[in-house]
Amino acid sequence: MIYLLMFIIGAIFGSFFFVVGTRIPNNQSLIRPRSHCTYCKHVLKWYELIPIISFLILRGECHQCHKKLSIKYLLYELLTGTLFLICYWKFGISYNFFISLIISSLIILIFITDFQYMIILDSPLVISFILIFILKWYYYDLSEALFAIISGILSFLTMLLIRQLGNTIFKKESLGGGDIKFMFITGMILGYKFMMISLVLSTFIALPYAVATIALKKDSEVPFGPFLVSSLFLIFFFYEKFQYLSYFI
Ligand SMILES: [Zn+2]
Repeated sequence: MIYLLMFIIGAIFGSFFFVVGTRIPNNQSLIRPRSHCTYCKHVLKWYELIPIISFLILRGECHQCHKKLSIKYLLYELLTGTLFLICYWKFGISYNFFISLIISSLIILIFITDFQYMIILDSPLVISFILIFILKWYYYDLSEALFAIISGILSFLTMLLIRQLGNTIFKKESLGGGDIKFMFITGMILGYKFMMISLVLSTFIALPYAVATIALKKDSEVPFGPFLVSSLFLIFFFYEKFQYLSYFI
């Protein structure tokens, strides 16, 4: 029962993240215009706004003009629901559970905005920063919370340095500002050492994708955010295994 509840809460958040991730990059308000069909502008009624269920009832098409709705809605709702469920299954109600929800939310938002618009929004990072600080303080103490901020600042500065080096070597912009700000959050969650491990891991995951994109599309712009957040997720979920690995480094 509680698993189902987690899935439903996740799906609702997923549907909200989709709105945030597609509207804010286009400088649109979150409340106006109301959710509508992109083809006929028909404003959606309440029963057309229920995550997953509406999509299935409407069989994936607009009630008014019968054009196909983007399958992305359904995918992001399902994915967020599944992630929230996994977080609960893995951690139960605990500090790790709330942090894993933050990471899952960032996964969804960064996948939506970075693949589509090559940006990572500031607002989710600021909200994550505040929540992590509060959670650290509540579950541990104030000094732990402040220490997390110091780890974040060190991670941020390290990324700035790496970007500077990259720009000098490759003579072009090597890292986006959003990637650098994102690593502040990774540093807060994982600490400095594991932030570095996460950075290395993400370049390994990103490499095949980057090679394929450049070869196929002749496009040298590859978003890095989705890989940074995926590797944060992996390390957080399999922390013991990575800790064991880190003894050898
Ligand atoms: Zn329509």
